[in-house]
Amino acid sequence: MSSQQIRNGKGHRAYKRKAAALKRRTARDNLSCGYGSDFGCGEPIDTTLHYQDPMAFTADHPVAITNGGDLVKQDLHPFHRKCNRQKSDAAVVEIWGAT
Ligand SMILES: [Zn+2]
Repeated sequence: MSSQQIRNGKGHRAYKRKAAALKRRTARDNLSCGYGSDFGCGEPIDTTLHYQDPMAFTADHPVAITNGGDLVKQDLHPFHRKCNRQKSDAAVVEIWGAT
């Protein structure tokens, strides 16, 4: 099953609600990027940026969906788009490649 199918499937609306709530919390509490200083980030996230901006807000699953993570039950972490991508490249790509 591709990640696209999973995102459009069961739990998708609940996920979007959670992601929206996290975005509000990120803006209100100035939460920083979950890609911590160990990885060269941990910087604040500007939630007003266009979603395609590399520094825009994204809601990350600690356990990637493609790695068996639950779409809705996990606590999401705020990530920059570019950091989420870097993390995915490191952790998930080989699983995508294997399917
Ligand atoms: Zn970041």
